[in-house]
Amino acid sequence: MSKVKKMAKKTEEKKESTVTDLPGVGAATAEKLSAAGYDDLLSIAVSSIGQLVEASGVSEVVARKMIQAARDGLDMGFQSGSDMLKKRDRIIKIKSGSENIDNLLAGGFETSAITECFGQYGSGKTQIGHVLAVSCQRDDPDAVAVYIDTENTFRPERIIQFAKGFDMDPDAVLERIKVARAFNSDHQMILAEKVEDLIKEGVKVRLIIVDSLTAHFRAEFVGRGTLAERQQKLNKHMHLLAMLADKYNLCVYVTNQVMAKPDAFFGDPTEAIGGHIVGHNSTFRIYLRKGKKNTRVAKLVDSPNLPDAECAFNVTEFKIEDIWIFFWFFDFFSRNFLNYTIYQYIWTWKCSDLIGEIKNE
Ligand code: ADP
Ligand code: MG
Repeated sequence: MSKVKKMAKKTEEKKESTVTDLPGVGAATAEKLSAAGYDDLLSIAVSSIGQLVEASGVSEVVARKMIQAARDGLDMGFQSGSDMLKKRDRIIKIKSGSENIDNLLAGGFETSAITECFGQYGSGKTQIGHVLAVSCQRDDPDAVAVYIDTENTFRPERIIQFAKGFDMDPDAVLERIKVARAFNSDHQMILAEKVEDLIKEGVKVRLIIVDSLTAHFRAEFVGRGTLAERQQKLNKHMHLLAMLADKYNLCVYVTNQVMAKPDAFFGDPTEAIGGHIVGHNSTFRIYLRKGKKNTRVAKLVDSPNLPDAECAFNVTEFKIEDIWIFFWFFDFFSRNFLNYTIYQYIWTWKCSDLIGEIKNE
């Protein structure tokens, strides 16, 4: 064996793989670290010396060595663009049942990402959560949805209705939805952490719903003085959700409330809660608005790879469905008997007319 190869082998053998392999970490320190949330190499590699000192009581020198060793032990290298493309192959898109909404997201709600719906009460955020909990089980009989319910709005009856709408066995569907009621923001954060335990036990979690992401945080942290702490906690919570989404290729669906923007003279006088923290941590953001007669408008306002767009849908007893059904006759006729350009022109005119009508309510 050449000298270089031998050396390479040596460094490979030296690589630490668990926290206890790190220099200066005995059983007691490992326990303290784990209690503070540092239970893998990555969490130590990306932490600061001060954080480790505070968490485990080791000296600064030891903390520095630990971080260095954890960094050496990890492959923190770069991936090529084509590797990333391959990684995108594993992404599954969960359908909502409304083609309009799915098209807005180029096929459905993606795994490995956080999708946020924000809007007023009654705008359909919870309904979409329910329908996704059912539909994520359609293609995969082992898939499980986790529903973290903070507003006490999870309704098994609604799940049964949506399951019937998809022609699925309601009892089997309910069996594969794990619901937990979160009583405050800390509880909500702990529940999100527990999802990883579920996965490690072998439960195939495909979807995590946090409905609502921000309600507890908004209620508990009142006043300017608490804003920084609230945002910090919310950030930590969303980072954990993002990590779960990426590590286990699952879809995270969160809902968010809006508040009135009193200084807005023009346009929509509402704004999502949670500020930049929630906005930046969500991969896709959808704004929901109520329209006439049970109609809703969904608008994609932020996405890394899709254009902003808008669509309309209906919430019915068994489905979330497209509004275009009213135009089915018109569509059939014009597609078959009209020149394509004229057809397209009338079609966009007709649809924007409808959306305009809903908006103007
Ligand atoms: P939020 O955005 O506050 O979470 P929801 O998603 O709970 O709002 O939407 C509530 C709305 O969903 C109701 O106002 C109603 O229009 C509609 N909805 C709820 N249940 C049914 C049902 N069984 N049949 C038809 N529409 C329903
Ligand atoms: Mg709701």
